[in-house]
Amino acid sequence: MDEYGNSGEGRATRRDEAVRAAVEQGLLGPDSPIVGLLDVTGIRESAAELRAAFAEVTAPGTPVLHAFAVKATPLVPVLRLLREEGIGAEVASPGELALARAAGLSPAETVLDSPAKTPAELREALALGIAVNADNPQELDRIDGLVRSAVSRSPLGIRVNPQVGGGSIGATSTATATSKFGVALRDEGAREWVVRAYLDRPWLSRLHAHTGSQGIPLSLMTQGVAETYALAEEINRRIGRPQIDTIDIGGGLPVNFASDATAPTYAEYARALREAVPGLFDGRYGLVTEFGRSLLAKHGTIVARVEYAKSAGGRAVAVTHAGVQVATRTVYVPGSWPLRITVYDGKGRPKSGPEVVQDVAGPACFAGDLLAEGRALPLLDQGDHAAALDTGAYYFAHHYAYNSLARPGIYGFVPDPARGVRFATVRDPQTLASIVAESGGAHAGALTTLHAPGSR
Ligand SMILES: *Cc1c(COP(=O)(O)O)cnc(C)c1O
Repeated sequence: MDEYGNSGEGRATRRDEAVRAAVEQGLLGPDSPIVGLLDVTGIRESAAELRAAFAEVTAPGTPVLHAFAVKATPLVPVLRLLREEGIGAEVASPGELALARAAGLSPAETVLDSPAKTPAELREALALGIAVNADNPQELDRIDGLVRSAVSRSPLGIRVNPQVGGGSIGATSTATATSKFGVALRDEGAREWVVRAYLDRPWLSRLHAHTGSQGIPLSLMTQGVAETYALAEEINRRIGRPQIDTIDIGGGLPVNFASDATAPTYAEYARALREAVPGLFDGRYGLVTEFGRSLLAKHGTIVARVEYAKSAGGRAVAVTHAGVQVATRTVYVPGSWPLRITVYDGKGRPKSGPEVVQDVAGPACFAGDLLAEGRALPLLDQGDHAAALDTGAYYFAHHYAYNSLARPGIYGFVPDPARGVRFATVRDPQTLASIVAESGGAHAGALTTLHAPGSR
């Protein structure tokens, strides 16, 4: 365990207390059988660890913006909390930009990357002064037009794909030869095109790559950053001045889904980077980072009531209220995204007892809707609770509307000497009226008014 308690013991204790308090305080019960819980203490700790890790390796005075990848947990109160902890926002759609603005993030704390920015999005970003990384030559053309027609404070750069290779999960590998992101640097003529793009545009001052994500080894991530740095050095050498003044190294630190321990840590990654790319940290370059999953994943828990406990073909099956709607990746690609499950009784107390191989099923009407299949756990009974751990990023904040299942309420928590645990609402549970409204409720008769010529 290091100074931040990265073995995760404190985290597990806080979580157990929060589950019990959620039942006692009525957030979780027969009529609200699923909640998402966010450990505010843990989120603050991770943010502090991130800042400390890069402060340790950078030269004094180096500008560093840690921009949280909003995609990972698109919740306004989370963005506001992170902002209080000195973390900005990386946004990749008009919706994410709106969330960052609603959370009070300033343009200087915001970075826009996305592979499909419309002219209107680019114009707005440049008008606001938000940093933009162009994904490809066609996008750079559009930015050229905007730069010619108006003055902008936006720091501008190009995203490159160093094509260093993929990891164990195809869908989250961003630096394969054929990845859709950025300018593919090893393609014929591409490197020279990038160099020329900077030579021709004195206002291009940043270089961006995001080569990590779940399943990518640290060595490959550092290699991606090293190649990006080498390109910046080459460009500045060719231009004869330090035109590129900031390197955006992306995010993508993988998360340990196997225990409560944080591994790898930000400190380990930052030290590995300094070892592999010392020049990046000598003060000549400002830095931007874009971590998502590693900041939030371990601080979220889905807790769901067991509605029924049954048996099929000799297999115990707990039918809970958490399935594909809150754990979409796990349900559809269980081999790549296994989640730890812990078991609590009806009062929210950790449940022990002999382990039984069982399925933890969700509420959706298809057979594969399983949070865990054939998992050895204390036997879940009707009225117990199953918790899916490490779900603070890319899980319950990413609702999937299968079966028109309602988005669960999300609550942040902190230990509280008086009440045990204090909760704050992050997102209200979705109402049925909202489900109807989002499902065309205002246009109920719309299709019946359309008649093909000659019919009827
Ligand atoms: C998704 C994404 C991130 C964050 O990735 P994590 O694996 O959640 O850290 C950062 N930058 C860009 C450009 C992304 O697309």
